[in-house]
Amino acid sequence: MSTTLSLPKYSIFLNADWSELTRLLAGHSKVAVLVDNHTYAHCWPLLEKYLSPYAPVLIEIPAGEIHKNIDTCQLIWQKMLDVQLDRKSILINLGGGVIGDMGGFCASTFKRGMDFIQVPTTLLSQVDASIGGKLGIDFQGVKNGIGVFRDPKAVFIQPVFLETLSDRELRSGFAEVLKHALIDDADHWQQLKGVKDLRSLDWNQEIARSLEVKRHIVEEDPFERGARKALNFGHTLGHAIEGQALETENPLLHGEAIAIGMIAEAHLSMQKTGLSEAALQEVSDTILSIYEPPALDFSHWDTWMDFMRNDKKNEADQILCSLISPIGDYKVNISVQEQEIRAALAYYQGLVS
Ligand code: NAD
Ligand code: MG
Repeated sequence: MSTTLSLPKYSIFLNADWSELTRLLAGHSKVAVLVDNHTYAHCWPLLEKYLSPYAPVLIEIPAGEIHKNIDTCQLIWQKMLDVQLDRKSILINLGGGVIGDMGGFCASTFKRGMDFIQVPTTLLSQVDASIGGKLGIDFQGVKNGIGVFRDPKAVFIQPVFLETLSDRELRSGFAEVLKHALIDDADHWQQLKGVKDLRSLDWNQEIARSLEVKRHIVEEDPFERGARKALNFGHTLGHAIEGQALETENPLLHGEAIAIGMIAEAHLSMQKTGLSEAALQEVSDTILSIYEPPALDFSHWDTWMDFMRNDKKNEADQILCSLISPIGDYKVNISVQEQEIRAALAYYQGLVS
């Protein structure tokens, strides 16, 4: 079964026939495909035969967030110049959020902008990064420090790509699926909360449902002035924990940190926005049954607080969170105090130690 989600400027094709994609290539002078070494090995073979009539130029970069930087952009732009892409060319970004964000950024800036199509191949990029028009790279330690808003020509989501994704990456992406349900789809949360085995889910349905939440919120607020902040549920504390862990031998994947952040911010929601204790328990139980999140080392308290004070959502020196209450409904710009954050993280710690 295929589904099409129509946004004002482009469509998201879920489980569509590849001919839908090749149809969009007509009229373009050249076709290029950006891959990393993993998506070259696992994803390109599924697409190759459909694209070969267009004699695509493959641009391969090394996998990983550490390569989402200006040096890799230079390699991409150089290759684009070498093979003489022009403004009428089109770039297909075949990969996870790193490929989508950086490939979209390179395409948007090459000769002032050429078309690009997103073919997200991780769960995280399928339900999150592929929609909303945010593109960019990390710069001088600032994540997504340089970037633009620009829409793709289309997004093609094929759940089949998830089959080669590691369980750890699949679980990490699933945190954003849980988040979408928690902020805006209580019925979906009811279905998800008993889930034990992610591999047994019907991804066509799950992705469609999850994307619908992001689509609706992004459409309401394309440039993140209000409602879009709801998508940051779990991210204020989660980013701080992720940022600190990044410097260590045991970095967390984004979704793993957000899973911790969602438990702690559900506790903040109980303190600040009236989430019931039963709902808090339900959120914690569900997350703990899927993830095995680590106990925290509170000697990093000051580092976490520095991250939280630098969060992009803050205003006038207050730490602002996006919380939930009840499940399926969000509240943005909730100012939280240091002792409330401490209570939330202590609650999490009590669950895992
Ligand atoms: P990623 O692109 O690094 O992919 C994770 C790993 O999976 C990589 O090693 C990749 O090579 C591999 N991989 C990808 N598809 C595969 C497949 N089908 N089979 C096997 N291996 C595969 O990371 P990600 O988690 O997809 O995305 C994270 C990035 O997305 C971050 O840079 C983040 O900033 C960005 N992001 C952007 C937005 C946005 O709105 N633009 C939203 C969320 C996240
Ligand atoms: Mg996220």
